[in-house]
This record gives sequence, C-alpha cells and structure tokens, in this order.
Amino acid sequence: VGILRGAKNGRKIAWRADMDALASDSPDVVAFQSTNPGVRHICGHDVQVAIALGIADVLVSLKNQINGTIYFVFQPSEENVRGAKAMIDDGLFEMIDPEEFYALHVTPYPEGIVVSKAGYMFADYDEIELTFESGKDSLKIVEFAKQVIEGLETIEKPEIFDDAMNFGDPEVGLVSPNTIYRDYVSVHSGYYIRERGGKTLISANIGTTDKNLLNEAKNKLEEKLNSSEFNKNFEGIEYFDVTYHPNNDPKLVKTASRSIQEHFGSDTYYEQYGIASGGGDDFALFQEKVPGVYFFLGASDFDKEVIAETHSANFAVDENCIRTGVNIFSILLLDRLKFN
Ligand SMILES: [Zn+2]
Repeated sequence: VGILRGAKNGRKIAWRADMDALASDSPDVVAFQSTNPGVRHICGHDVQVAIALGIADVLVSLKNQINGTIYFVFQPSEENVRGAKAMIDDGLFEMIDPEEFYALHVTPYPEGIVVSKAGYMFADYDEIELTFESGKDSLKIVEFAKQVIEGLETIEKPEIFDDAMNFGDPEVGLVSPNTIYRDYVSVHSGYYIRERGGKTLISANIGTTDKNLLNEAKNKLEEKLNSSEFNKNFEGIEYFDVTYHPNNDPKLVKTASRSIQEHFGSDTYYEQYGIASGGGDDFALFQEKVPGVYFFLGASDFDKEVIAETHSANFAVDENCIRTGVNIFSILLLDRLKFN
C-alpha cells in the first residue's frame, strides 16, 4: 500500500490495482515475454499495475496542490479471490480509512473508452456439481446431464458467440440499451467430468443476473433430473458460490461518469446496460466496506487483431490503454480531491 498525502487535509480516496498472473503454457504473443515459464499476464494485471503507478507518478508531481490523501492498494491473488480478503484480514482498514474506493480492469472493449454502471457489473456465478452413480449408462448420463444444463440457458446467443466480440457489439453488447446481457441464465466455461468412488461427477458453471434466477434454475435442474429416466442414478447436486460481484455505488458512478465525459468527451465514457457474463472480482470485498466504483477499460484494437479477451491464450492489449487509463483516472481522482 502506498500512501500519498497532499499539502492539506481533504477527502481520502483509495485506488486498487491487482497484480497477479495466471498459469499458461501457451507462447507469449508479445515481445516482452514472461520470464517465469508457465506463468503469463493474460488477465492484464500488469497493465493495472502500470496504470496505478502512472497515476501515482502524476499525483506525486502535483502533491503540493492536493487537498486530501490517496491510497494506492496493490492487491495480490485476485484470480483465486483470496487477495482482497487476505489484505482485509491483515488490517488494511486499520491502516487506511478511505471514503471512496476505485479500481479498473482491462476488457475487450476498444481502446479509448471506459465503461461502468450503478450496481452489479458481473453475473452471479455458481459452480454446480451433479453426482450420479456410475454404471453401464454413464456415458449416456453425461450427455443427458449436459443437455439438461444447457436447457437452462435463456440468453439468445448470436451465431458466432464470442464474449469478446459480443460484449462490444453496438447492437447486442453491454453498452447497447437492447443488450442481450440484461436478464439471463447462461452456462459458462464448459464441463468438468470425473469418476470418483463409483460415482460420476459433472461440474459446470451457471451464471445468472440475479439470485432469483439462479434459484429458479436450480429448481428446474433438480426437477428435470428427478423425473428423468436416469433418476435412479441421480444422487444430488451441490452448489458452490464461486465469484464476488463488484457492486458500484450509484452516486459515485454518476459523479465519475460526469467528470470523465466533461474532461474527455461523451464518447469516452459509456454506460453498461447489461451484466457481463464472465468473471467477477474480489474488489467487491473492498466495496462492502467503502463505497466505490469498478470500471472496465477498453484495451483492444480490433483492426490490428489485438484483443484483450482476458484469460485467453492470445490475450493482448493495445498499450495506448495505459496512457488512457493514467490520464482519465488521474483527472478523476484530482476531481474528487478538489484539485486547486
Ligand atoms: Zn483479471
């Protein structure tokens, strides 16, 4: 945690950057390859760190004109959602007492734009695990279970379903008022099938835009399995809550969007109308303590086929997004600190 105190007292604001990388054996698509074999920055947390350091650099140069305090929080272990909790357990909020908390994450949106919304940014995800007694029908059961799970889906996916493309699509994407990502149940990230002690276990992730939809989907799933020809083999379902959902403070979203559009133009900030179907972020735990805003920062250059689809083997960013991020969020923090 880095603490920058301005010349005079004023508002206290925190900025979070997550730092961790991911396991990946795919070759790097950038010149600055990872020096740790099997570990790559394919979620852009190196970009988040670079932007936070950039913002710190700008604000330090203006320190004598700043009223207030800025806390730069560099958080480990976002990917396994343990880092934010570890920092809180370690006494983060005894060390700092921010009144507002901000963070960003790179996304497949085009470079040059920032997106956010009041309330939840990501779908609510549960991992579901179906247990069946194994037998001669195990293969059939797996196929049947997949069909039933897929039958829960309510999102109408365009022909080529690729979140990276569809999130940014002006017709169906998140920034369109007619987005397909408004209310939905979707199956995410494939299936995980294994045998254990005479049982066949089938896991998948289902995402929904709210808890009610999730509960409805669970009931439907159980009904279908209990009334199926495999009901004798079906032993039950377990649910595991796997994500944290950043929940943005409506007032702060309003002031932030106004500030960004005032300084950088109305085509810089976009409202997100729907709920993103993948991911989550344990920044949500900081927001449970302090009101804050989580932003998506555009990082793709589609013409050059640089697409910031996080966790994909070819993840890459248009590095202009670092400059954009530093510019926009230095100004936003200065606005909130009442720069004079
Ligand atoms: Zn990430």
